Amino acid sequence: MRRTIIAGNWKMYKTIGEAISLVTLLKRSVYKEENIDIVVCPPFIALGEVNEVLSGSNVMLGAQDVYWESQGAYTGEISALMLKDVGCRFVIVGHSERRNYFNETNEMVNKKAKAVLAAGLFPIVCVGERLDEREAGRTFEIVKNHIENSLAGFNKQEIITITIAYEPVWAIGTGKTATPEQAQEVHSFIRRLLEEKYDKNTAQAVRIQYGGSVKPDNIASLITMEDIDGALVGGASLDAEKFSQIVKFAQGGMR
Ligand code: PEP
Repeated sequence: MRRTIIAGNWKMYKTIGEAISLVTLLKRSVYKEENIDIVVCPPFIALGEVNEVLSGSNVMLGAQDVYWESQGAYTGEISALMLKDVGCRFVIVGHSERRNYFNETNEMVNKKAKAVLAAGLFPIVCVGERLDEREAGRTFEIVKNHIENSLAGFNKQEIITITIAYEPVWAIGTGKTATPEQAQEVHSFIRRLLEEKYDKNTAQAVRIQYGGSVKPDNIASLITMEDIDGALVGGASLDAEKFSQIVKFAQGGMR
């Protein structure tokens, strides 16, 4: 059984004051939603204040990135222990913007996911092909490579605590959503890879989110697909009303 998870990736948007206003509105709109995990991932500098606003609510805190060492002379970096200390439960790793603009490799993503788990937090590991790769018929090859290498070395108990976000890069921030069928095809492929590596029960327990221009008007058709267990939402998560609508439309309960 898989619990639906909707996470908002705010990227590099919102000052601290704007972040407080957004989560204040959001928590009021979704306080009745029970059978669903709701996560917001603000910029690092707003995590402390957002955590205070969310205290006692059903909205959980996440971060957008992490460094794999627990402490040290790594100027500008933030460790998983620091994220836990500020109130985070989830951490996004391997977002395509990090892979593409900051040259993050599968090996780096893997180390980050391991550090997140070691700190007792839940990683959201992003995978997905670029447009040129899809057009060249390489979608499955790229996704397999991301899954095998970003998720290398996890045992069954660990893998079931990881959320995988399938995010076709051509659908992120472009307004082009994958059709429910296109997304389902890749989600079921990912689940088959997990089944081959682990076993059927383990594969069935792992949550796989879809990400890429998810909006209130397309979430309902995506969430009906068998292997789509939620969404990682960028642009629409910056608006409390749109994000809470997405949560409500996704409120499918246990899958
Ligand atoms: C994302 O940032 O992970 C994302 C999917 O963005 P958007 O919803 O804006 O496409």
